[in-house]
Amino acid sequence: MKTMTCRQLGGPCDEAYVEATADDVIKAQDRHLKAAVKAGDATHAEARDAMKGRWMHPKKSMDWYSGVKRDFAALPES
Ligand SMILES: [Zn+2]
Repeated sequence: MKTMTCRQLGGPCDEAYVEATADDVIKAQDRHLKAAVKAGDATHAEARDAMKGRWMHPKKSMDWYSGVKRDFAALPES
């Protein structure tokens, strides 16, 4: 398992996700952003919109996705 934070994924806070794969971390971030914005947290709105855009334009988002995968791969196992 490895740990990545909301901030490492382009968000504004230090919420941490402990997951086995980069895909799981991205899904956890997506859930976190949705929940934060729904709760009225405006600081997460920009990251939420960016994430929404990535789902709609997956090809354009490959650079971001590859970057997260690379960062995740470079992290130490915990
Ligand atoms: Zn956050």
